[in-house]
Amino acid sequence: MMSVPSTPITPITPITPIAPSYVILSDGKQCQAHYTHYYDDGNIAFLVEDYVFRLFRSVLARRSEVLKDLFALPQPQSRDEPTLDGLSIIRLKDSMIDFAAFLDFIHPPSSPPRWATVPRWRALFGALRIARKYGVDDVDIQALKGLEGVLPTTLDTFERSTVYATLNATVEVVNLSRELGLERFLPLAFYRLATLSAQNISSSQTMAVLCRLSKEDLVRLHVGRAALQDALVNQAYYMPDMNPHAWRCPSNRHCPRGGPTAVPLASKKSWMTLLQFPLEELRLRIRNPSIYGDFCDDCNDHLRERVRQLQATLFANLLLYFKLSD
Ligand SMILES: [Zn+2]
Repeated sequence: MMSVPSTPITPITPITPIAPSYVILSDGKQCQAHYTHYYDDGNIAFLVEDYVFRLFRSVLARRSEVLKDLFALPQPQSRDEPTLDGLSIIRLKDSMIDFAAFLDFIHPPSSPPRWATVPRWRALFGALRIARKYGVDDVDIQALKGLEGVLPTTLDTFERSTVYATLNATVEVVNLSRELGLERFLPLAFYRLATLSAQNISSSQTMAVLCRLSKEDLVRLHVGRAALQDALVNQAYYMPDMNPHAWRCPSNRHCPRGGPTAVPLASKKSWMTLLQFPLEELRLRIRNPSIYGDFCDDCNDHLRERVRQLQATLFANLLLYFKLSD
């Protein structure tokens, strides 16, 4: 039976604060019933972290051979093992967030879960982790599809995505992608790590976050940043953005800007931005019709084509720069 506690405990960062419900186990211990996946008429109970999930044996057994086998095992009859309304309780060493995200696929909530504590991408990784552990193929496929919808793999989706707003989130995506063998998300995540950490690479706060990467990935990050800038400087060297004296007007006419007396096109600041955020800065140049406005039409055509090629090359070679293809 559900019971309301006399002293409400605040759920972890709830979107809308709701009073948690508690259940009393046979040993007198009070545990929190999971916000979404506690069904009063459920016939099997799980204890995950300190949360009780009360679910339906047949629904789970039908989806997962692993859980079916687990249910078939004789449940321990030890007096020390508490029960819930006579149901034995299966303890899982999974994360509550992951398990709940997985159950959201099995029993879709009628409204977005009010207790949601993690961003969508994190919940999807959690659901995928549980689906793989217990062999639930359809949830595996759906969670993966969901991840492909929220994690960027192209320049367009990268530009719109807010997933990589912080170093913390980006490191977590890298680590979860590694754990689950999802290498397709790594190139842009590494690019974002390289750009986000460039300014404060020596700060202890930045290093503390980056050191949650594996040693191999930390090396890839540093090597990759250098390789990316190497490629950028090599290819941008003859562009007026970087080197105003190296650009020659291809038509050799009276181009006001494309000659040896050219003045720097880009301010020092925008050159620094190009070094630090090359993909984004090149994109701005592609879209800004006036950026090469002082040059003749021939210069404009050549420069724009060069910017497009440079951006495409850098993006296509991220795997190579960060040594992610081995
Ligand atoms: Zn010109």
